Amino acid sequence: MRLLLVEDDRDLNRQLGSALEKAGYAVDRAYDGEEGGFLGETEPYDAVILDLGLPIKDGVSLLKEWRAAGRTMPVIALTARDRWNDKVQAFDAGADDYVTKPFHMEEVLARVRAVLRRAAGHAQSAISCGPVTVDTGAGRVTVKGELIKLTSHEYRLLAYLMHHQGRIVSRGELTEHMYDQDFDRDSNTIEVFVGRLRKKLGVDIIQTVRGLGYRMEPGGAA
Ligand code: CA
Repeated sequence: MRLLLVEDDRDLNRQLGSALEKAGYAVDRAYDGEEGGFLGETEPYDAVILDLGLPIKDGVSLLKEWRAAGRTMPVIALTARDRWNDKVQAFDAGADDYVTKPFHMEEVLARVRAVLRRAAGHAQSAISCGPVTVDTGAGRVTVKGELIKLTSHEYRLLAYLMHHQGRIVSRGELTEHMYDQDFDRDSNTIEVFVGRLRKKLGVDIIQTVRGLGYRMEPGGAA
């Protein structure tokens, strides 16, 4: 899962960015409304964390432009305390949720998990496919109840496929959602990750759809 973080406060951007990375997300960072607006319009993010008070262009204007351009990714607005009208404007502009500053990192992480789940149509924090369960809250993966240790890239790949069960996900799409923009991307490595993932999971649950990509069937029928 790949996130965009738009926050002009450098300290906050750094702290929040590293908390999100630690939680297993690929994170692109922007520090003003222009840079953030461009990234949000051109890159495929699974969710965006958007400060409303930004230099060059404010968050609400950005959000309106994204929505007008047909960008539907979930957006969590960061708002200052006591600015209730900011929250109203943010929701009207198309925000999915908000967090009031100052906040605890855990709250932002929980809200990110929730918007990602809702975007994928899951109500629970644990997502299952046959014998495989990903607990997005704890970042844990189990197969038939047994804990499986995955690297952060393997986890990202599996979590993305689990969130998108039932449809074919291309290697290009996986590449775009697994790495931040600074990462040296190579879609061939996806195949390597899928191979390792299959071996670690030990169950035949990730189908290869020749020439198109990969698919996990809801219910786990391969
Ligand atoms: Ca700000």
